[in-house]
Amino acid sequence: MSEIKPYLYLSGLEPLIIRPESNFINIGERTNVTGSKKFARLIREEKYEEALSVAREQIENGAQVIDINMDDALLDGEQAMTTFLNLVQAEPEIAKIPIMIDSSKFHIIEAGLKCVQGKCIVNSISMKEGVGKFIEQAHICRSFGAAVVVMAFDENGQADTLQRRVDICSKAYEILTKQIGFPPQDIIFDLNIFAVATGLEEHNNYAVDFIEACKIIKQKYPLVKISGGVSNLSFSFRGNETVREAMHSVFLYYATKAGMDMGIVNAGQLVVYDEIEPKLRELCEDVILNRNNDNNEATEKLIAFAETVKSKGKEIKKDEAWRKATVEERLKHALVNGITNYIDEDTLEALQKYPKPLDVIEGPLMAGMDVVGNLFGSGKMFLPQVVKSARVMKKSVAIITPYIEAEKQEASNAPTILLATVKGDVHDIGKNIVGVVLGCNGYEVIDLGVMVPTDKILETAEKEKVDIVGLSGLITPSLDEMVNVAREMKRRNMQLPLLIGGATTSRMHTAVKIAPEYEHGVVHCLDASRSVTVVGSLLNATQKEIFLKETKDEYTKLKTQFENKKPVKQFISFKDAQANAVKIDWQNYQPIQPSFIGTKVFIDYDLKEIREYIDWKPFFISWELHSNSPNILTDNVVGKEATKLFNEANAMLDKIIEENWLKANGVVGFMHAEKVAPDSVDVYFDKEKTRLEFLRQQIKKAKDQPNLSLADFLPPSGGRGALGAFAVTIQGIEKHIERFVAEHDDYNKIMLQALSDRLVEAFAELLHKKVREDFWGYAKDEDLSNEDLIKEKYVGIRPAPGYPACPDHTEKYKLFDLLNVTENIGIELTESLAMYPASSVCGWYFSHPESKYFGVGKISQDQYEDYKQRKNWDDETAQKWLRPSME
Ligand code: SAH
Repeated sequence: MSEIKPYLYLSGLEPLIIRPESNFINIGERTNVTGSKKFARLIREEKYEEALSVAREQIENGAQVIDINMDDALLDGEQAMTTFLNLVQAEPEIAKIPIMIDSSKFHIIEAGLKCVQGKCIVNSISMKEGVGKFIEQAHICRSFGAAVVVMAFDENGQADTLQRRVDICSKAYEILTKQIGFPPQDIIFDLNIFAVATGLEEHNNYAVDFIEACKIIKQKYPLVKISGGVSNLSFSFRGNETVREAMHSVFLYYATKAGMDMGIVNAGQLVVYDEIEPKLRELCEDVILNRNNDNNEATEKLIAFAETVKSKGKEIKKDEAWRKATVEERLKHALVNGITNYIDEDTLEALQKYPKPLDVIEGPLMAGMDVVGNLFGSGKMFLPQVVKSARVMKKSVAIITPYIEAEKQEASNAPTILLATVKGDVHDIGKNIVGVVLGCNGYEVIDLGVMVPTDKILETAEKEKVDIVGLSGLITPSLDEMVNVAREMKRRNMQLPLLIGGATTSRMHTAVKIAPEYEHGVVHCLDASRSVTVVGSLLNATQKEIFLKETKDEYTKLKTQFENKKPVKQFISFKDAQANAVKIDWQNYQPIQPSFIGTKVFIDYDLKEIREYIDWKPFFISWELHSNSPNILTDNVVGKEATKLFNEANAMLDKIIEENWLKANGVVGFMHAEKVAPDSVDVYFDKEKTRLEFLRQQIKKAKDQPNLSLADFLPPSGGRGALGAFAVTIQGIEKHIERFVAEHDDYNKIMLQALSDRLVEAFAELLHKKVREDFWGYAKDEDLSNEDLIKEKYVGIRPAPGYPACPDHTEKYKLFDLLNVTENIGIELTESLAMYPASSVCGWYFSHPESKYFGVGKISQDQYEDYKQRKNWDDETAQKWLRPSME
């Protein structure tokens, strides 16, 4: 049983749990009649529908709680609060998040408390009218189960020094917890954010005091939360949103570090700390941290700077202001910001304006994509944003294309790049991303998809007169396929450059194995962002020669290095390696028996349960969002984009689950197993035995270190050994991919592929856990968090055929036969032993506590011969599957 931790639990229709590691909580401020003229007008005019859309917009912009305030002299606050909150309750999109009922009049708060469901926050109570009132109001809040914001305020006024903040909060804390029994985690202190840079010296230290007070109060009362109304800070810069946003972001950067948990903000308007113009950021830091500020020097400088920056205009109008610009500007804005809402009308308008349809593409659309390309190239835009820009571009081009065809215009003469995943391989996320990024940079991309035979690649390249061929692949056999393509290009006397990419490819392999086969340019290019520069150089008449020569020189050098490399590592004979196996005392080991021998099939396993086991790190990597911070979502550089992506991913996961897009199928099996030779294991359900073959490390090891083979982790005959196996897959993606392709929506297509990969890995993790705790049951009392599972802290392993501990892909045939994988759950093997659907995983289960992952590494001729014999292979087959282990 897991205990209920002392976190702040809030809820609307859905829970919001604020844990110590939670990110800063954005509380939407726009539904406040005192802070937003627009909202005040809508409420006064009783335009509640529109007023609700203000709330909705805040949520879309990332608010996790919304603050609602009706304190306007012209309003009947109680009635306005009641009416609005009752309407909110009928809007699941708004009611899903917790409400913060905000008023300085307690009777309005009470009216509000009677309307909301879930656990809300009252904003605020304080000791300004004495302790008696405070206790009375706190009682009422508590009786509704609400959390409370307590203002640092007493009969002497608002706390404006560090000491007063700490004193008032300490007093309030004692009263609330001791006299009323308020749980400390339900107390939120508002430590008063005041305006700085007002010109008055005594205001200069306000932000510093706030930040210091956060630290002290958090240390004294670790469970309480700290909040504040952020926009007060920049009050003296009203009208200059650029400066205000920058000040807020700088302030929050320091305040959250000091312990501030949440704040009332304009959720759509926070800029990323690192994206603030450095000069402005420095000035803001000086003002907020009260540095270099003698005689208001820092303040003066910020005011002077503020004059020079053009304000981005009034906040609310800002969002739509771009609609008033020229059609070219609008197209650019839509592209840079990835907005598809108006692309149809804007494209049609541009078609009217330009003489030829093609001009629209080559004019304003390309100009917009240029901006995108430059921002991406300089690290100011991230891949997910670029893919969204591409979606806008594609949608626009789709509207224009019929006009081009009608006029029988020559299609664009942009350079063309052909992309394909090689024969036998089914993985294409990386390739799809490269395609999108190149498309964004003005290239025509022909994507032949996956499992494309060499002939088809090269015939298309010739027929379509493409300018570059790009190959992709993920599994090791694809490396050989790429060598084949290079050879065939030479045979056909082709002249185009060849690009190599994909997870298993490397500069070294390209230099040593592929480049020597073809002399007109072979370039390894690992990530999408690099591909733009590489393609740019290859297509630029003056740069091409130099670039190819440099690459060639570099690769020749690498190849020479590779060939002359004295084996630093020494190898021992296969016999000696076998003699140096892992020594396990099987005599004194009692293997735990699986709860069944045979197989168990899972069809349409609950995706809700699976999603809890997702490891998100590889997801961000596939979108090229890299971070060293422990939590990528709060990373200074990519945090904002990562958070957006993460939210969108989860929204899609919700849909996948609700609308049954995908099915998770799996099969698990347990067999008796006995080691019958140093590297051979027999497995069987009853009589019929299947012999598994393993490879062994041959590198010379340090004293007392064994030469590992997976076979070592199984006992000899009579030892009651067991081995498990599994295969899992996510079925049903095709239909949805087709739909996204039809909608020119690469963003969602790539998102779905990435999520499907995540789900299958999570399913493997979940099943493995069930195996350990239940089906095999050798670790019944395991109690590991998802974090620990990702770190593989459990006992036993699930090595995958084709991966370093068992690099021979062909053993997958046996695994598939034993578990009847294709029949049971529908995974197919390609000729390179890739699994289709691409989101599939399989492996063996070893339970012995000493079993661990390792790499076999290189083997010598003696083991090669022995293995070949054991597998009954002819020389060609042995070469094909073992060569990677020989080189
Ligand atoms: N949490 C990751 C896990 C996948 S990679 C994700 O969601 O993507 C880890 C898996 O790769 C292991 O479970 C195992 O099946 C395989 N693996 C890792 N190292 C291996 C090795 N040396 N030999 C064989 N398989 C290995």
